[in-house]
Amino acid sequence: MKYQRSSQLFKAASDVIPGGVNSPVRAFKAVGGTPIFVNKAKGAYLYDADGNRLIDYINSWGPMVLGHAFPPVIDAVVSKAKLGTSFGMPTEIETKIAELAVSMVPNIDQIRFVNSGTEACMSAVRLARGFSGKEKIIKFAGCYHGHSDSFLIQAGSGAVTFGSPNSPGVTEGTAKDTLLATYNNLEAVAAIFEANPSEIACIIVEPVAGNMGCITPDVGFLEGLRALCDSHGAVLIFDEVMTGFRLARGGVQELYGVNADIVCFGKVIGGGLPVGAFAARHEIMSHLAPLGPVYQAGTLSGNPLAMAAGYAMLQALESDSEVFERLAQKTEYLHKGIAEALTLHKVIHTINRVGSMISVHFSPTPVVDFETAAEGNNERFKTFFHGLLNAGIYIAPSAFETWFITDALTYEDLDETIAAVAKIAPNL
Ligand SMILES: *Cc1c(COP(=O)(O)O)cnc(C)c1O
Repeated sequence: MKYQRSSQLFKAASDVIPGGVNSPVRAFKAVGGTPIFVNKAKGAYLYDADGNRLIDYINSWGPMVLGHAFPPVIDAVVSKAKLGTSFGMPTEIETKIAELAVSMVPNIDQIRFVNSGTEACMSAVRLARGFSGKEKIIKFAGCYHGHSDSFLIQAGSGAVTFGSPNSPGVTEGTAKDTLLATYNNLEAVAAIFEANPSEIACIIVEPVAGNMGCITPDVGFLEGLRALCDSHGAVLIFDEVMTGFRLARGGVQELYGVNADIVCFGKVIGGGLPVGAFAARHEIMSHLAPLGPVYQAGTLSGNPLAMAAGYAMLQALESDSEVFERLAQKTEYLHKGIAEALTLHKVIHTINRVGSMISVHFSPTPVVDFETAAEGNNERFKTFFHGLLNAGIYIAPSAFETWFITDALTYEDLDETIAAVAKIAPNL
């Protein structure tokens, strides 16, 4: 593989864009080398600036669950664009996608669209505070809820990849209202409630964690959070920006049968355009402006192109009764193949998987929380990453990220990936 053109483009970008990237997770700082500049993508494949074809396991960090340039989404965007790209006035497509989303997800009556997952989580917490009349929030180490100040406390994803899970620029005043708990540890959460009686507005949690690798909630963990919130009058926020419309039609609420009070969306719900959303029952949503006093707004929120893309995506997922099962089967096949190849060469590893999310950890112990995720061998990960890249397979340039399986992947693509792992394994 040659990356001359990407190197040139990265050099030019670095002159005018900090670190050459508009989001740090795209940098190759943690693995070494130059970020790949992409020209176009179709289905399961990326085509980069040097003409290489790569099998894509990032898929824009989640949105492209049905593959790149999915025709119904592209057609919807193109035809909408011809009618004008933004009005700052209500449009019918907003109601259509809202009706569809509300019908697919359990336990929500209304949904408000924003422009990113960050905005969705930030607004959800403000709403939870306004609704409950309390100020403190509980978040889990290694969970990522976007880059808003209150969430950059032991945050996952890029924040941990680049060694700053607590970012400078977040004031002590803000940080003190974010109370930190350990994923899969209910006792720790109960202790925080005990120590802060009547002060906790909400718990925000990735109900399947995806920003410290993929971590499954232990049996009873989500139910326990639900019960703690109920007994202390706190709001339970499921951040389903990654899991929503990916793990099931109704997300993790449906998958594990646990109800949240507010649910955040992003990624898949925008079909690859910049969209986030948060949703809840009437009782909670009626506190939001213009109905209620909790303010939240956006010049481009509900943008017609973004809504058209998201609507086409949700329609495709809604009308295909087997899509989530098919995704899970492909992911399981990949899991088995990679595990076999690594085991054959005695490479110590742990693989976590839920539905179409999977992560490979070079770690001897089960990966169940932030601490165990951080124990993985990063040198081995680097070799693994570059080995795959050289074989034309693109995974996230960080040991703390999930792989996102798309329905566009064929079993031949998966076999090619497994064969590449088998080839790299002796060097790990
Ligand atoms: C990606 C992500 C976010 C942030 O979404 P952006 O669109 O990047 O702002 C928030 N929460 C979770 C769980 C995510 O995976």
